[in-house]
Amino acid sequence: MNTRGCRNEVARLTLVPRITVEVKQTTNQINAMLLMYHQMLHLFILILILNNAIASADWDYGKHGPDVWKKNYVACGGKNQSPINIRTKCTISQTFSRFELTSIYYEPVKFKLTNNGHTITAVPNSPTPISLTGGNLKGRYIFDSFHLHWGPNDNSGSEHQVNGDKSAGESHFVYHHAETDQRAVLSFLMETEDSTRHQVYPRNRSKAVAMEQQWQTYFDTARHLMEENSSATVDLTLNLLMGSNLAEFWRYEGSLTTPSCKENVFWTVFRQPILILNYDFEAFRDDLFFESYRGPQPLYHRQVYRSFLNEKLSPIPDENVCINKSEAGLFFDIFHQTTICVLHFSFLAFYRLFYLN
Ligand SMILES: [Zn+2]
Repeated sequence: MNTRGCRNEVARLTLVPRITVEVKQTTNQINAMLLMYHQMLHLFILILILNNAIASADWDYGKHGPDVWKKNYVACGGKNQSPINIRTKCTISQTFSRFELTSIYYEPVKFKLTNNGHTITAVPNSPTPISLTGGNLKGRYIFDSFHLHWGPNDNSGSEHQVNGDKSAGESHFVYHHAETDQRAVLSFLMETEDSTRHQVYPRNRSKAVAMEQQWQTYFDTARHLMEENSSATVDLTLNLLMGSNLAEFWRYEGSLTTPSCKENVFWTVFRQPILILNYDFEAFRDDLFFESYRGPQPLYHRQVYRSFLNEKLSPIPDENVCINKSEAGLFFDIFHQTTICVLHFSFLAFYRLFYLN
């Protein structure tokens, strides 16, 4: 090897370690970047989880109650909100198809009851979907769960009201459409013998006893779920939990009654209330949550329909008599002002005619 060749060899030998060091440095940088990326991803996921946790904890029925839900959940301030006060005189009679209940409604189904921090949810553990058709609902709806709402005493606790009357509580059987995001809720007002409205509806005694016992089974299990996220399993028969008259109800379009308050619910509020024992809700108030209901929301432009012909409370055709207080007040105000104006101008005309001429 000559001098030049030797110099090249020396240069080659010194270049190799330099390249190796540079590759190592690049690899380290890539590793560092990957590590940082992973850390950021974890942080992002953590923030999302925390955000969800905060979102689910930022509403209740006390300090963060229904009056302020719309601050965090815009839909809660919408114009199609639920529940409502059903003014029977303002409902319109309509023909509805019969609700079709499949055989599973008449069999005991395992339900998982869970304290979700706001109420007790009851989710069926059924091998086949529990579906619902009829009641003029388009298509097939799948049963998701049921839960209750209650209040500080047996004359306050239902979400829906009928002519301003409150019931002791309300049970919601929640469904979703098999193909769309649409929901349907079957709602039953609940009364105890201490409720003022408990005798408002005639009932079949034997069915009433079976229903009372079924609800007793539910309450005996649910009342022990004092801790949030605690759960238990119980066998329940849906047909016995629901009222015996599924033909008479009120229907309107509204929303979920808890945040997010999404306005995608067909509400069916049954006319026949469910009768439960006096101390059932008392145990809930003492052991679970003091109250768990949202008050009626404005109806605005919506129409409420009824699935029965004879509304005893409104013998006159409803459309002709349904003027709400504010509309009636406005009408009389305009009438009053117009009368005063007419009298005033008549007096002026009379005065000019007889005294100024
Ligand atoms: Zn509900």
